[in-house]
Amino acid sequence: MNRTCILALDQGTTSSRAIVVDRECRIKAISQKGFRQFFPHAGWVEHDPNEIWASQSGVAAEALAAADLTAADIAAIGITNQRETTIIWDRKTSSPIYNAIVWQDRRTADYCERLKTDGLEKMIRDKTGLVIDAYFSATKIKWILDNVPHARERAMRGELCFGNIDSWLVWKFTRGKTHITDVTNASRTMLFNIHTLKWDDDLLRLFDIPPSILPDVRSSSEHYTDTAPSFLSGRIPIAGIAGDQQAALFGQLCTQPGTAKTTYGTGCFVMMNAGDTPAISHNGLLSTVAWQIGGRVAYALEGSVFAGGATIQWLRDGIGILRNASESKTLALSVPDSGGVCFVPALTGLGAPYWDPYARGTLFGITRGTGIAHIARAALEAIAYQVYDVIRAMENEMGTPLQELRVDGGASANDFLMQFQADLNRTRVVRPENMESTVLGAAFLAGLATGYWKDEQEIANGRLIGRSFEPQGDPDTIQHGIDRWHEAVRRSQGWAEQE
Ligand code: ADP
Repeated sequence: MNRTCILALDQGTTSSRAIVVDRECRIKAISQKGFRQFFPHAGWVEHDPNEIWASQSGVAAEALAAADLTAADIAAIGITNQRETTIIWDRKTSSPIYNAIVWQDRRTADYCERLKTDGLEKMIRDKTGLVIDAYFSATKIKWILDNVPHARERAMRGELCFGNIDSWLVWKFTRGKTHITDVTNASRTMLFNIHTLKWDDDLLRLFDIPPSILPDVRSSSEHYTDTAPSFLSGRIPIAGIAGDQQAALFGQLCTQPGTAKTTYGTGCFVMMNAGDTPAISHNGLLSTVAWQIGGRVAYALEGSVFAGGATIQWLRDGIGILRNASESKTLALSVPDSGGVCFVPALTGLGAPYWDPYARGTLFGITRGTGIAHIARAALEAIAYQVYDVIRAMENEMGTPLQELRVDGGASANDFLMQFQADLNRTRVVRPENMESTVLGAAFLAGLATGYWKDEQEIANGRLIGRSFEPQGDPDTIQHGIDRWHEAVRRSQGWAEQE
């Protein structure tokens, strides 16, 4: 077999990327292109599906050219994507009937509140593992069917297709031959029963969504179809699909129950492999499908912290005490501790496990001796405390302590933050050399399906650890810090309501 590389497509919220990966998990070429964001009203966020397609197919061709490869060199394509974003298109013409409604879009928030008032929270959580929220696709689909003229009649006549971004890309790459999604994307629609792994009739009725618009749900790693030959100069098997956070979990090779990863980006996204049965959370965590490979399904617990790297962005751009993000480490290490300063960065409320939209950022313990180094240190500590809280909630749910935390994302480059995380959780923190976990996850899923890699062990052999951080520090001092943090969180909550 002379197919030497895998092509991974990472369709994100602000850009489309294509990456060529070789057998040793090395990146041979990257191409990236941004696209427009539309904000038609306060709280609404849309993308143009045709621009998403143009940018994604464009970067795929560019990455192949940059690596000096053609379709014949590529063993398979793996796709990972921004989750929940919703597109409905015409089955005959492939024309979208409305823009893509992006995961961040809040237009259906009031409707979601009504569903909660109607007491549907438990039923929906039990079936889907999700909390009722405008994030997920179901209410976005309903909005399009309710608001685009004749959309529901057309859907009833079988003329329309719904898809998340993965479905849309596969549809376009196959010129309308294949209408599929994978279990991880399906599990973010709020229409999918994560126990039976089928679209749920009760939920389809509740949201008045005709089943004929839904894609077939497939595993995350199989040879689904081939790209049409007119793209990328030849047919390439499409063989892996997963939502971005699930792909990152797989890219970090968290394949054993109880293993976890945190992506430290703008927000922090914590995901733990929960094993082969869904753990429905009562601690404000989401339960979701991690992946399906062959007949094997893995589930995951998920919790998001809103202000991760955003806390550092605010120190830099909001109050100007940093010139760049990495300066936060130098400043933090220039003082022995935070000097009693505790910072709750609830800049946009608090996410898991608190879920308090009314909490606001609060700095405690400021004295005449407080300087910017103390504040920078407290900010980095706060990122780690928030992740600590989510991981504790997961450990409680699973009944076992975390053995090791794998990390990626921009802010995981900060050694002070990583060491402090290891100290707090009393667990090793492992940062891989190649931090592109999301892309690698999509590549792994596609490569395993096509025999490019034999098994997960072969992949693990090629995946290099960059640095690991062992827990240090005095447990009593650390516990005291955690107690003060929880007291600070308590005092920051509900603030916006009281204005
Ligand atoms: P996203 O994918 O959400 O855009 P990235 O993974 O690119 O995020 O990470 C960027 C975030 O990480 C920014 O919020 C930035 O402030 C933060 N960041 C980057 N480098 C560092 C660093 N050395 N220390 C702390 N935070 C950092």
